[in-house]
Parts: sequence; structure tokens; C-alpha cells
Amino acid sequence: MRADRGDRSPDQVWADALAFDQAHLWHPYASMIDPASPWPVVSAEGVRLKLADGRELIDGMASWWAVIHGYNHPSLNRAAQDQLQRMAHVMFGGLTHMPAVELGRRLVALMPDPLQKVFLCDSGSVSVEVALKMAIQYWQARSRPGKRRLLALQGGYHGDTFAAMSVSDPVTGLHHLFEGVMPRQLFAPRPQCRLGDPWEPSDIAGIAYLIEAHADALAAVILEPIAQGAGGMWFYHPEYLRQVRTLCDAHGVLLIADEIATGFGRTGRLFACEHAGIVPDILCLGKALTGGYLTLAATLTTAEVAETISRGGAGCLMHGPTFMANPLACAVATANIDLLCESKWQDRVLDIEQQLRTELAGCAALPGVRDVRVLGAIGVVEMHTPVDLRTLTTRFVEAGVWLRPFGRLVYMMPPYVIDPASLSVLTSAVRCVLSEAGGRGECDEHER
Ligand SMILES: *Cc1c(COP(=O)(O)O)cnc(C)c1O
Repeated sequence: MRADRGDRSPDQVWADALAFDQAHLWHPYASMIDPASPWPVVSAEGVRLKLADGRELIDGMASWWAVIHGYNHPSLNRAAQDQLQRMAHVMFGGLTHMPAVELGRRLVALMPDPLQKVFLCDSGSVSVEVALKMAIQYWQARSRPGKRRLLALQGGYHGDTFAAMSVSDPVTGLHHLFEGVMPRQLFAPRPQCRLGDPWEPSDIAGIAYLIEAHADALAAVILEPIAQGAGGMWFYHPEYLRQVRTLCDAHGVLLIADEIATGFGRTGRLFACEHAGIVPDILCLGKALTGGYLTLAATLTTAEVAETISRGGAGCLMHGPTFMANPLACAVATANIDLLCESKWQDRVLDIEQQLRTELAGCAALPGVRDVRVLGAIGVVEMHTPVDLRTLTTRFVEAGVWLRPFGRLVYMMPPYVIDPASLSVLTSAVRCVLSEAGGRGECDEHER
């Protein structure tokens, strides 16, 4: 039945929509008895979100790492529209299409040589499931079925499906909720040594011990290279990653790099593994893959892993999503990668990094602030205690920016196309709102 808008005012239409939303629609990690009221967005353009009441917010989240070229981009719109004229979707079992081939060509060309085999799937979490399945099927095919455990890092985040959860941080991932349902994996301490600090050799001891002691049971190590995202926004030393690669080789364990958040330039390199000059056996991509347009992810691996799996008992990788290699998403992803490669993204990310360093530095002196850190186009202010999400997001919206802190972390990863003036509005909103929270308002009039 069609809602009869009649002569209701736009305010009334939105009031009804929000009432329905709160009564019926689940939001991420949200309560259904005490739902926070979401802000209605009617359109978005460049780095700005337009709210139903006409206000515009500068977006500091890139819709969770995804929107790297900004919203409503003409080239990405055109790619979607052109593909839509031909077909939105067709099954990938037994059929193929140009959007998948074109995207595959670009991914294979961008990746280091050994990563040649591409599995296209629906979302980041699913690409992690596929990566884990690949690792387990690989050892089955090599007649080592005992090698089926996984080793992950504390402070990591790999998604919300069961296997992905099982390798995410046990505390922030709330493993106790699913005790007995979820497989128990091994966890190494979070790397302590930061990117940019002198390497501390003892930092590798924890994971080195675990890999050596459990080599016979381990299928793979899975980690986010250099930058841990939703598990704590932590940036660690490339030497740690290099040594994990060496340890995996020495003990016959596969290395899975989850680049779902870090991929496509976010950390200043096209892929974060490049900071350490290593190549994983399996690599996951997602988030920025379609520039934030559609859900799509990819798991890449080497010919050796792919061929070994295919020689195993099953004769194939046991996975095949309904919307595998969705043509619409592949077409947009291809245009997105072309746009990235044609742009001066490296300069842009470096400029953003420098500006974030300069403009967030002042936050370190604010009461309640524990640490300020920046890597590429990611800026993080870590507090001593968890922030009040509703109060802070409301204050940010009042200041004209969209930021969504979690736990003790107030952070931003804006679209790469953000201009310096808009980025300054973001950083001064953070300074202003956090200083207010600490009791010494630093907000200028125009920010309110
Ligand atoms: C977001 C994220 C995922 C999960 O991706 P979804 O598309 O949300 O399923 C996995 N790993 C990392 C590192 C992520 O940032």
C-alpha cells in the first residue's frame, strides 16, 4: 500500500518515517527497546551529507571507510547507469560477464604477482569466511586435516559472521555471548611497537611462541596489516608484519591479510602490506572496493593455494554466493579503481595525513585524552574512558560534521577528495567538542 502523503508537511512525513524506523528497523549494534534516534539523510554530494531539515554535514566517516571519491560521483553514477541498461544481475554459476572480467583484470594487475586468483563475494565478512575456508581446504588437500585452527591478534576486527567473529578481538568482539557456539581460536597479544617508533624485537615474542607451539594445528594467521580498524584503531610496526610473514613460512602456516579497511590507499600505500613489503597467501578486500556504492568484496590468493584446493577431495572451493560477482557492483568497482589510479590519491592522502597531524595535535593536551595518532587518511583521538555516543554525535551534528565515535575512540577517515577547509571543520569540531566534554569550551561561535 502506498503511503498517502496528502497534505502532510515534510516535517510530519519525516516524523512518521522516524517513528516507523524506531519501531521496526534494526540499526547496527542497536537496541530495539531504547533506539537512538537516527538523523535522516536525503542526499549526499562530495563530502557533504544533506539532512531532511536542510542542514549539511561534512562527512568524516566515508560511510565506514568506503566512500573514497565522495558521494554522488559522476563517473561512478555513469558506470552504474550504463550497466543497469544491460543487466543488474545474472548468476555467476556457469555464466560470466564483462564487468567481472574487467574487475578481475584490474585486481590482478594491482596486486603483487603471486595473488592471481580472485573470488568475488558479497561483503567483507563473507570474504573473510571465504579466506578461512580456503586456508582450511588447502591443508585438507595437502593431507594435513589437523591444521584447522586460526591465530589472530588481540584488538583485531574481521567482521560479524561466526567465523569472522571468532578471529576478532575476544573482548571487544564479545566472545562470551556466543560461548560454545563459536570455534575457539588462538590470540596473540596486540603488537605494542608503533609504526614510526624504533623496532622493539621483544614485540614478536608472543606470536612467535604461538606459531611455533601450534604449527601442527594451525591453518593460518589472520591479521589486519599495519592498521587495526574497528578493534581499536591501532597502527603497529611494519617489522612485526615482516617477521610474522617469516614465521608463517618457517612453520608452514598460511598468512591471511584482511585489507578490507586498509585497502585502496587509506594508509598512504595502495595496500597496507606494502608498508612491510610482504605478500600474504590470501588477501581480503571490501569496503572501498566500490567507492561506497554497493556491497562487494573479494578474496585473492595465489595459484599454489587455489590449485592445491582444487586438487583436494572436494575438487573445488566450497563456496558460491547467490549474488557472486554482481555485475552492477563489479562495473562500479571497475570505475572506482580507474578513478583511483587516474587520481593523485597518494598526494591527497599525504596532504590529509599532514593536516590531521597538525590539527589534531592540540587534542593531546585536552583533559581525558590518552593518545592522538594519525596514519594516512585516518585520524584517531583515544580517550581514557568510553565517550557517550549520543551526546557526542549530537554535538558533532550541531557543529556541522558527521563523526561516529565508538568506545574510547573518536576518529575520522574522510573521503580522499575532502578539501583542506572542510577537513579543518572536522578537526576543529573534534577539538571543540572534546574540550567541552572536559569542561573548557573551545568552540568558536561559527562552529556552534
Ligand atoms: C568492516 C570490516 C570487515 C567486515 O566487512 P563487512 O562488509 O562489514 O562484512 C572485515 N574486516 C575488516 C578489517 C573490516 O574493517
